[in-house]
Amino acid sequence: MVSQRRELDSERQIKETEEQRKAREVRPILTFESLIANIVTSQALVAQKEAIKSEVNTTLKAFYCELCDKQYINVAQFDEHVRGYAHTHKLVCSLHHSSLCYLTKIGPKAIQGDDCESAPERC
Ligand SMILES: [Zn+2]
Repeated sequence: MVSQRRELDSERQIKETEEQRKAREVRPILTFESLIANIVTSQALVAQKEAIKSEVNTTLKAFYCELCDKQYINVAQFDEHVRGYAHTHKLVCSLHHSSLCYLTKIGPKAIQGDDCESAPERC
C-alpha cells in the first residue's frame, strides 16, 4: 500500500514537472527578434522622450521673458511677472531709451533697480 502510494506521488511529481516544462516552453523566451523588438521599442521611447523634451522647450519658450532673462513654467507665473513692477519698469526703461542703445550699450542688466532713469547718461 505504502509503496503504491509513493509511486502515485512520484507519478504526480513527474506529471507536474512535465506540465511545468510545457508551460516553460510556451512562455516567451528572449529570441533575437524579441531583443530587436525591445531595442526598437526603447529607441522609440527615446525618440518619444526627445519629442516631449522639445515640446516642453517650445512650450517653455512661450513663458520666457527676454527682457528680464527669466524663465517661467506656466502662463500664470509669466502673466504675474509681466504685470509685475520689475518687468514693467524694465519695459518702460527699454522703451524710454532707444532700443538700439538698450540692446548694444547698456543691456538689460544695467537697467536693474531704479538707477536707469537717474543715470540716463550711461546710455
Ligand atoms: Zn520681464
